Amino acid sequence: MKITVLGTAAATGMPLAFCNCEVCKNARKNGKKDIRKRSSILINGEMLIDLGPDSINACNMYNEDAGKIKYLLQTHSHSDHFDGGHFVTRWSDYATKNLIHLDIYCSKGTALDINHWIKENEPSLDLFNESCKKNLNYDVHLVKHGDSFNVDDYKIIALDSQHDSRIESLFYIISYKGKNLLYATDVLKITDEAWNIIKKYKLDIVFLDQTYGEGYNNGGHLDCGEVKEIVKYMYEEEIVNNNSKIYATHISHEGNNIHEIMEKEASLYGYHIAYDGMQINIF
Ligand SMILES: [Zn+2]
Ligand SMILES: [Zn+2]
Ligand SMILES: [Zn+2]
Repeated sequence: MKITVLGTAAATGMPLAFCNCEVCKNARKNGKKDIRKRSSILINGEMLIDLGPDSINACNMYNEDAGKIKYLLQTHSHSDHFDGGHFVTRWSDYATKNLIHLDIYCSKGTALDINHWIKENEPSLDLFNESCKKNLNYDVHLVKHGDSFNVDDYKIIALDSQHDSRIESLFYIISYKGKNLLYATDVLKITDEAWNIIKKYKLDIVFLDQTYGEGYNNGGHLDCGEVKEIVKYMYEEEIVNNNSKIYATHISHEGNNIHEIMEKEASLYGYHIAYDGMQINIF
């Protein structure tokens, strides 16, 4: 399994527009790992998790061909995770040629909200309309918490992220050729029910929402203190081991810091801080 990390920021990216906090100021000064685009990852060059506003530019930056994407897993439809503008470029009116079929997997609430964003960009399109599906060459598959489904050589389980119940936000475990990846961004809480499923796995790669620093939690997400506890629990329950690669992602400036400082602290607790353009190869 090859993972390309396309983005690792919360909200609109890091540093935040117009913000003059120390974190944003230092991020601007440092560049490199401290410039974060909105969170998404690409698996094996063909499975995108979250068609966020920055995801396609990131593919171009990191040598990935977005024209080869076959599968889209959406965690949810918030504007930092889904960009209707990218989606409507599949329309034949935009002169798109040789479109590869796209299978989209998301919750019903997310699909309805995605449709709203698509219509904002192009009122004549409708996500659920059969002629749209044909013209833009895609299918939508609705999934919910606890659903397990196969996509080509991938086995995927959808889990409730408690982040936004209105749109039934989800996070996912993706298994591919004996390797297991947990991608858990925009998570308020891992419920007991979700843990019961996660505990059945030995995870090789883990991404966890660390939107906030410890003591700065403004809601809807995990913070650094919670991430440390989750990581500790995963080691105790042998869901991960010393060979597992565990990363924090969806980083905001609130209570977090520049990459170098965050990485030093995280490594004391058995995990790392993801950065844009990072690649993980695990076989
Ligand atoms: Zn987000
Ligand atoms: Zn700031
Ligand atoms: Zn969100």
